[in-house]
Amino acid sequence: MSGDGKRGVAAWSKLPRPSSTLPLDLTQVLDLVSSRAMLLGQADACGLFRYDRTNRAFVLWRASGLDQVFSERIRHIRILEVETVMGSAIRQHVPVAVSDIMELPNWPLRDAAVEAGIRSVLVVPLVRAERVFGTLVLMRREQAEFPRRTVDLMQTFANQSVLAIQNARLFREIEDKSHQLEIASQHKSQFLANMSHELRTPLNAVLGYTEMLLDGVYGGVTGEAHEILEYVQANGQHLLALINDVLDLSKIEAGQLALVLDEYAVQGVIEAVVSVAQPLAQAKGLDVQVNIAEDLPLGRGDERRLTQALLNLVGNAIKFTDAGWVTIAATAIGDLLELAVTDTGPGIAPADQERIFDAFQQVDNSSTRQKGGTGLGLAISRHIVQMHGGTISVESTPGQGSTFRIRIPLQAGEVMEAA
Ligand code: ADP
Repeated sequence: MSGDGKRGVAAWSKLPRPSSTLPLDLTQVLDLVSSRAMLLGQADACGLFRYDRTNRAFVLWRASGLDQVFSERIRHIRILEVETVMGSAIRQHVPVAVSDIMELPNWPLRDAAVEAGIRSVLVVPLVRAERVFGTLVLMRREQAEFPRRTVDLMQTFANQSVLAIQNARLFREIEDKSHQLEIASQHKSQFLANMSHELRTPLNAVLGYTEMLLDGVYGGVTGEAHEILEYVQANGQHLLALINDVLDLSKIEAGQLALVLDEYAVQGVIEAVVSVAQPLAQAKGLDVQVNIAEDLPLGRGDERRLTQALLNLVGNAIKFTDAGWVTIAATAIGDLLELAVTDTGPGIAPADQERIFDAFQQVDNSSTRQKGGTGLGLAISRHIVQMHGGTISVESTPGQGSTFRIRIPLQAGEVMEAA
């Protein structure tokens, strides 16, 4: 009956390996450890006992080879750390073998084990770097010494098992944490969406009254007061744009940004963008050129959102360019519509060209940082374009300028419904 290490190793190598490459959960790891320990140690049963730090006691975790009644019985026995074999195994960090359990007057498990026909046990500590996990207890019906090689083998096996147990626990913690993070992120998006909505109402009132004051509805406002009111209006509009971006981003993150599909004329989209961008460009002395290919067919998509995406690109081109020009070009490439915005601005280093499309990402150099912004525009544009089944990309040479390209299907309807 008693085996040696060699036979144990042979049995180990024949054990089926788990087929999945996914990490095993804790219960699977414990089952595997106890069943393999039983085979390796040529024992009749194996119990894994968890160390309960608060009560300084051991509780049965999982077992192999034990009948249900015995398992249930020992699950309810309090095995204290003091004056037990398990306690001394974890204190000394070495396995303790007991060839005849009748010699253990104080072992709380003794009577139950004897009734179940157990005569000898080997208690192996499950410890790592002073952290106590519990014990692995090999049980035999035979009343005999455990061979030295088995004891050594079990010690090595226990060390490996502790690692597996620790990994499974960490994996479970990571899963729990990711789940908590996901929930927290949903709460954050919801909070941002609610807040942005609540902020817009009073801000719109401020903007509305400012406009009426400027229009002289409440009597003439002249001179410096008029100028100050214009500042209020400009800053209010800027704040509104920022709030709208945050609202859009939170809608995107909450999966609530819906497109309104209709037919649109590409010229209409570009005209809307130019009407907003032209005064900004003029103020900086930049030339805005528009090249729209002739005979462009009507497109199908969300005109307001596409205008927003293009305006973000043109707005950036003007914001970051200090001298030269900005071009907006529209062409059809097969079934695709391409909108390209080119500028003679500072350009973007290759290392930054991918990440600027992520939310809150800005090129970390003083010249672009100075220009202000939130780093949300490109993330929102990319999402709008992707919802249309399209792509957005950038080509740029630092020091020479950049070209941002949107490519979307001219008929984007079906892709949108699937998105
Ligand atoms: P924001 O403009 O609010 O910072 P965006 O998401 O629109 O946010 O842009 C992210 C970053 O990409 C900008 O901060 C800037 O560093 C860089 N960038 C975008 N467009 C240009 C451009 N035309 N030229 C140079 N840098 C640009």
